[in-house]
Amino acid sequence: MEQRKGRRLILFPFPLQGHINPMLELANILHSKGFSIIIIHTNFNSFNMSTHPHFTFHSISDDLSESQAAEKDLLLLLSHLNAKCGEPFRECLAALLSSVTEEPVACLICDPLFDFTQSVAESLKLPRILLRTGGASSTAVYSAFPLLKEKGYIPIQESRLEETVTELSPVKVKDLPPERFFKAAQAFTYDTKFSNGYVFNTFEDLEQHALATIRKEFHIPVFPIGPFHKNFPAASSSSPSLLSQDRSCISWLDTRLPNSVIYVSFGSLAAVNEAQFLEIAWALANSKQPFLWVVRPGLVQGSEWLEPLPSGFIESLNGIGHIVKWAPQKEVLAHQAVGVFWTHNGWNSTLESICEGVPMICIPFFADQMVNARYVSDVWKVGVRLELGIKREEIEAAIRRLMMEKEGEEIRDRVSKLKVMANICLKQGGSSYQALDGLVDHILSLESLFTKLKSQ
Ligand code: UDP
Repeated sequence: MEQRKGRRLILFPFPLQGHINPMLELANILHSKGFSIIIIHTNFNSFNMSTHPHFTFHSISDDLSESQAAEKDLLLLLSHLNAKCGEPFRECLAALLSSVTEEPVACLICDPLFDFTQSVAESLKLPRILLRTGGASSTAVYSAFPLLKEKGYIPIQESRLEETVTELSPVKVKDLPPERFFKAAQAFTYDTKFSNGYVFNTFEDLEQHALATIRKEFHIPVFPIGPFHKNFPAASSSSPSLLSQDRSCISWLDTRLPNSVIYVSFGSLAAVNEAQFLEIAWALANSKQPFLWVVRPGLVQGSEWLEPLPSGFIESLNGIGHIVKWAPQKEVLAHQAVGVFWTHNGWNSTLESICEGVPMICIPFFADQMVNARYVSDVWKVGVRLELGIKREEIEAAIRRLMMEKEGEEIRDRVSKLKVMANICLKQGGSSYQALDGLVDHILSLESLFTKLKSQ
């Protein structure tokens, strides 16, 4: 822990699991660098704050109706939260800035998905840094929207799905999110250039090309300081979970052979229909490999939990499969028994898998997941992507490729090398280590900007 800097930072996470985790991890990292931390959070998806007694928390009332809070369409949820949170956030931030304390606020660090933070920060003359919780490669794809439109890739045409987007190779047309996602992304992409910095949970060796593109595009300081959860040792265990973690899976993994288990989780938002759920279940059972499967309540549309499984299915597994509602994922991936991660390729899951050297089976669902999966299979070559959707023959073949064939060994070798790189970049002199030092200096320099702006 470094000497206290006598400066406060205000962080404002977007209230989804994949956004809260990295923001809180960043908060831990900056706290260890001597900053005091204030977190402003919404009532919606409010998390357990007791794991972070060293932070100060302020909640704002988002006033979402029951149906708005239950919204499954991510873009609609985004728009409800943006419509409801702007004013309470402004009031909370203004009150914090005017409270008398010996520790001045150096800056606001927020998630670009909240589209009002630029105007609020500007009106209060507070510098604002963005934390992009997705990868740099998918961010570069989002920012290429005008080009993609000009070149006719968007709107997406069925007949061109398998075509490679020459300008973003090896990304294919089918990896591009629908136009409405691009349009939503444009709101935050536009604001980015007015911010005072862009923090990424990635590292140079992994996404050098995309980071260079982003630097060229936005002309603001870019700080790739990831992987966050490896940067601050306690960060991984203190990630706030919106669902309670079932730790029974760790003792179950303890009974399994090294590299023998398929870990299956599709993150906090993706959902499957009943037919797809059964296809997954049969593929896992047919593979005869031990599996740990996270079936989050809500994963299967229209079902509470495991009801669609045929009766007797679980008993027929003879203990080869273990199913939980939510797992301590980082710990699971670090467990020596885990040999393959079947993932939806949310950015956090992708990075966590790389950091533990675990090969992936990729089944992306929406948003940035398709681009992440394309990078996993075609750029880093550390996983295989299911190209046909959720079909048991393809899934079983992917499991065999990774667990039994030479190709699987080669993939394991490559991902182990990335794991080593991820560790090296955090060591003294490494790229993320230096970027973090740069971020700390940059934040301290922003404070004088704030003082100057306030006196104008
Ligand atoms: N996660 C977890 N337990 C689970 C499944 C996921 O702790 O059973 C965590 C995972 O480690 C990651 C986050 O939830 O940090 C999911 O983020 P990601 O970007 O992968 O996907 P999203 O949920 O945003 O789609």
